[in-house]
Amino acid sequence: MSDATKLYAQNGDPGFPRIVLPEIPNLAQMETYESNGGYAALKRALEMDPAAVTDVVKKSGLRGRGGAAFPTGLKWTFMPKGNEKPKYLAINADESEPGSFKDRQILEFNPHQLIEGILIASYAMGIKAAYIYIRGEYYKWYKILEKAVEEAYSRKYVGENIAGSNFSVDVYVHRGAGAYICGEESGLMESLEGKRGYPRVKPPFPAQNGLWGNPTTINNVETIANVPAIIWNGAEWFAKIGAEKHPGTLLYGVSGHVNRPGVFELPSGTLLTDLIYKYAGGVIGDKKIKMVIPGGSSMPPLRGDQLEGVKMDAESLKGVGSAIGTGGVIVMDEDTNLTKVLLRITKFYWDESCGQCTPCREGTGWMKKILQRMYDGGGKAEDLDLLVRVANNIEGNTICALGDAAAWPVKFTIQRFRKELEEELASQERSAAA
Ligand code: SF4
Repeated sequence: MSDATKLYAQNGDPGFPRIVLPEIPNLAQMETYESNGGYAALKRALEMDPAAVTDVVKKSGLRGRGGAAFPTGLKWTFMPKGNEKPKYLAINADESEPGSFKDRQILEFNPHQLIEGILIASYAMGIKAAYIYIRGEYYKWYKILEKAVEEAYSRKYVGENIAGSNFSVDVYVHRGAGAYICGEESGLMESLEGKRGYPRVKPPFPAQNGLWGNPTTINNVETIANVPAIIWNGAEWFAKIGAEKHPGTLLYGVSGHVNRPGVFELPSGTLLTDLIYKYAGGVIGDKKIKMVIPGGSSMPPLRGDQLEGVKMDAESLKGVGSAIGTGGVIVMDEDTNLTKVLLRITKFYWDESCGQCTPCREGTGWMKKILQRMYDGGGKAEDLDLLVRVANNIEGNTICALGDAAAWPVKFTIQRFRKELEEELASQERSAAA
């Protein structure tokens, strides 16, 4: 068996592993991936009992990288045992959250590790068909992925009797059509079934009633790309990297007013200030930071004076009233117009609302109208309370999380920047009265 140790131990700065984005040129090519030990973890997994594979993932502490940070191994155990009904795996590659652009790095530079992770996950859960649901606009990455899947079929890693075992699974790549809501797991399943991407009421959850009414697990790209490394190096190795309750490395995508925007694979729990100043090169023009959204546009923002000591992992961010989300860090400097930011974000969620729930469908539109009026200079002092009231009526009252995603940026930005926004509105009222 070839040795995959090198594959998951490429030293980064300052000497931690790069698990999902190793610094190996041409790793997307099958020959390079194999010659660096790719697919060795799959062969090792196939020699294990499927339940033991799940157990390793469970013990590693791996948590989902798609937003909710739910424990991955535990999720796998929700799949019913036995073979009465077909079981499915769906990989969420519908990366559409503004500020999030990390999964496409794996699709571009390390697609075979994703495929290997899919095969191991399928073996662990007794799955015979896995779907990769990829964002429609990701055409370039779709082509790369499609080629990688074809190569994996031709090397007999995918298909019948994989690597000479009794295990068989098919992997399909399915393109979405550009709807953000199809990144919500039940919207994704509806779309895969060929229907309009309307999120479903839960329960029942996918593990009981997923694709075509059958047990289904939905995992994010980055989550599954971690699995081969965990199987190869063991649960303890993984559990020791980064933050104790959210171990491993994370792909942090940094954008906004920074000198070197990009995706950085670093241990979970990396200081937010290190991410911004050490890795992303600091703020353009050495300006002060006004606001940072730490996990994609739907997560509660932090004020520039709240960043010191903040660690980038699920528990630490929860402790400061935000969330890790997809690790998409959006940095905004001192000159940022907050009303413009909120208007832009709200327009996005209004546009992407599927329209099933009244609070989301109407509430996002009302917030957009109020913010547009504020942005156009016609704001009133009571607008902030009105916005918070609308946001509170959306939050928790909808079928899927898009409602909360639309409400949180508005609600928490007002909570954390109230004084600045009040001053802005008072100045607008003075101008209107003059
Ligand atoms: Fe659709 Fe919004 Fe309801 Fe989600 S919350 S189901 S996006 S209307």
